[in-house]
Amino acid sequence: MRALTFEYMGIAGSELAAANAIAKRAGVLEHRVVRLPDLRESSDIPGFRPSGLPPSYIPLRNSIFYAFAASFAEETGATDIVGGHNRDDAKVFADVSPEFFNCLQMAFRKGSRILRGNRVKIVRPLERMRKPAVIRLGATLGVPFELTWSCHRDSEEHCWSCEGCLARERRFREAGMADPLAPSKMEKIT
Ligand SMILES: [Zn+2]
Repeated sequence: MRALTFEYMGIAGSELAAANAIAKRAGVLEHRVVRLPDLRESSDIPGFRPSGLPPSYIPLRNSIFYAFAASFAEETGATDIVGGHNRDDAKVFADVSPEFFNCLQMAFRKGSRILRGNRVKIVRPLERMRKPAVIRLGATLGVPFELTWSCHRDSEEHCWSCEGCLARERRFREAGMADPLAPSKMEKIT
């Protein structure tokens, strides 16, 4: 198993550190960090505010990320490319639909003799699950939630006021789980 992280413009350093820590804990063969300093979230693109999409939206993100993943798969002989998209993502982003991934998988096989020979698959095990169910599944699998990072700001600790932090707090509450990173006052609320 190998892992891939994308370092796009403005990504929180703490998020990269979390990805490293989780990859290490998972014991992956290789954790590759792809540097994409010219790839930006819409909030960092002057005059680009697509309606119905959050400020964290990256134009054509999954087409780009999965192209790198397919290249990595070709290089390493991997047969499965695994993405962690869930049902909540599909409500917002067009590039997480089953139709999109089926087309992409077909394109990769058409465009690479190696991927076609290996019958490469794009696998999305969480696709039908909502985020609280993903958290509960993570708990049963022993996911080290204390190593994860959800904050959009770059600091030592979660700010508990940005979009990422508020969503994390809400999803853990909906899952009926205690977040090991939550400050004590939030634990009392839940
Ligand atoms: Zn935050």
